[in-house]
This record gives sequence, C-alpha cells and structure tokens, in this order.
Amino acid sequence: MTKRQLRQCLMKQTGCGLQGKDGGWPCGTCFGTFLQRVKPELDKSTANGLWQSLLVYRGDYTLDMVEQTQEAVDKNIVELKRILTEKDGEKNE
Ligand SMILES: [Zn+2]
Repeated sequence: MTKRQLRQCLMKQTGCGLQGKDGGWPCGTCFGTFLQRVKPELDKSTANGLWQSLLVYRGDYTLDMVEQTQEAVDKNIVELKRILTEKDGEKNE
C-alpha cells in the first residue's frame, strides 16, 4: 500500500480529510473513532501511537514532536495498513 493509497483508504473509512499539508488526511477525532470501530480492543496508548506515527508518516510532524522512534513509526504504519487491509477484506466477504 502506497502513501497515497493509505490516505485514500483512510479517507474512505473515516469520511474525513480535514488535515495534512496537502489535505486529505483525517483529523485525530475521526481517526480515533475509526480505530475504536474496527479495533475496539486497542488500548489508548496503542491507538495514540498509531496516530502519532501517522502524523510523522504524513510529514506533518517530525520525530522530535512525538514520543516515537523511527522504528516504532515504521512498525505502526505497517500495522495501520494491516488494519485497513483487514477491514477491506471483511467488507468483501
Ligand atoms: Zn475529522
């Protein structure tokens, strides 16, 4: 999944594209609501880690603005893509 595909997928899932330098990325509230809907078992700190990682991945935040290492960000983005792919899979069943 490319960055562009991730953005389109998130927009489809959250219905929100209010943020981002170039626009088209969901805001934190809609992102949080989406995660709660598809992954209600995620704890708050994991969900927050995914959100912070997305901000870095988008290019809106730098690493020193979040409590994440580059490694954690990379891992979280892989996880987020997995969640989104899983979500799409469910819908097609
Ligand atoms: Zn929103």
